[in-house]
Amino acid sequence: MNFSFIDEVFDPLQKKLVKRWVLELPGAGCEWYKKTGGCTMCGFNQSTYKFTFGGHLYPHFIFMLLFYYAYSLVKKQKPEQLVIYNGGSFLSDKEIPLKTQLAILRFVKKHPTLQKIMVESRAEFATPEKLRQYHPAIFGKKLEIAFGLESANNEVRNKCLKKGLGREVFENAVKDTKSFGFQAFAYVFLKPHCLNEEEAVNDAINSIRYCFDKDIDEVSLSCAFVQKGTPLHALYQRGEFQPPTLRSIVRVIEATHLFGPVRIGSFDDEPPPLAKPSNNDDTDLLYEQAIHLYRRTHDVKVFEILMPGGID
Ligand code: SF4
Repeated sequence: MNFSFIDEVFDPLQKKLVKRWVLELPGAGCEWYKKTGGCTMCGFNQSTYKFTFGGHLYPHFIFMLLFYYAYSLVKKQKPEQLVIYNGGSFLSDKEIPLKTQLAILRFVKKHPTLQKIMVESRAEFATPEKLRQYHPAIFGKKLEIAFGLESANNEVRNKCLKKGLGREVFENAVKDTKSFGFQAFAYVFLKPHCLNEEEAVNDAINSIRYCFDKDIDEVSLSCAFVQKGTPLHALYQRGEFQPPTLRSIVRVIEATHLFGPVRIGSFDDEPPPLAKPSNNDDTDLLYEQAIHLYRRTHDVKVFEILMPGGID
């Protein structure tokens, strides 16, 4: 598996394609997963456990060795942004040592071409104390913190998806993040297994509206796919769950793109999905091409151009 590479993504805040360094760091694994068995749709723990001998926290120097080795693989391509995925919360000291978190921020601060770093975290770790430590370490460059909200509906988020996240915790994290001059990003999930297709589309639209009402800068629509060993996999095997259709994804984007920048998350991950979004008919290729183009432009016109007669 390639854990350090460059891709090109559309940055809706800058309205252009940017060269992004994607780095997968072997954090000790999501604390929420360790405490509770994790969120219904999440398969991160499997890769995390594989690369950390069962969720072990490596010392700072190991992280930095890996980090500089990873950097040597992409250095020549002069990345503009860095995104770190650690299968949990970058801001949690039990998952990534604090010293490592700050060293990486300082690296970006001093770097000649990197302008921004994005990291993921559960909302409860974005405390004023933590953000106060981050502020001088990244000052002058941009930091974006991505929070998994999944759904604005409390029942869906906590009962169905088992997220264990209060709205107040999310709203405070966003407020604090913004008050330190950082950007806030949210993941919204399409489709939770407890909702039918129509309900899931409406839930995603309402959740995206809620995110922008709460001052989130960008949203990414995480479209359900099935990974081996997750609770979703068990439902899928029993015929009780199907990922959303590609039509539903387009409907959500068309309904929300005026609220603020909405990305469409990748349908690939580690471990590789066993089932992913599909119309289950011969329109898949056309829709996939349209979605691919949307990811590179954030222009909803790509849906009209590629599908004369409109989207049903
Ligand atoms: S979705 Fe996030 S919070 Fe939930 S188990 Fe996975 S890594 Fe942890």
